[in-house]
Amino acid sequence: MTIAIYPGSFDPITNGHLDIITRAAKLFEKLIIGVYDTPDKRLLFTTEERAELARQATATLPNVEVRVFTGLTVEFAKKVKAQAIVRGLRMSADFEREFDLAMMNKKLSPEIELVCLMSDLKYQFLSSSLLKEAASLGAIVDDLVPKHVAVALRKKVHSKM
Ligand code: ADP
Repeated sequence: MTIAIYPGSFDPITNGHLDIITRAAKLFEKLIIGVYDTPDKRLLFTTEERAELARQATATLPNVEVRVFTGLTVEFAKKVKAQAIVRGLRMSADFEREFDLAMMNKKLSPEIELVCLMSDLKYQFLSSSLLKEAASLGAIVDDLVPKHVAVALRKKVHSKM
């Protein structure tokens, strides 16, 4: 069975992530979204909230699963028997970071391949961090995230005020 992981913070999951997920789910028999469990103070949502938002967003995709992980991404990939790590690339900004990460991962686990999918043109400038900043300043972001994420984002932003 071809298995890939799609790791990230997903704070929160956006339509840009979902575009990558939908496309990657067609390439692999099973796609596991790995929600990175990190105590990073800059994250808006808790790990479980991020995972739950991702679960709801992908509920209609039968071969997509959401799991939480800590530690090295390649170790998570090995644990779930994935042959590949999927990442999304936006314009040039993501390239250098992804290249560095890929080189490190390749050194740690040469058998795991990196598969980068180019972001769709309409999501090139969409990032979770920009989204959170805009939402905290009152912007309506409903066309950039699934409905339940927009609702959760509004609630979270209000609770932090
Ligand atoms: P990380 O903290 O690992 O960067 P993110 O949740 O920000 O986690 O992103 C996870 C993956 O999704 C990364 O490969 C990132 O480049 C990609 N990604 C984020 N936003 C988009 C987007 N709008 N279009 C395509 N890929 C994206």
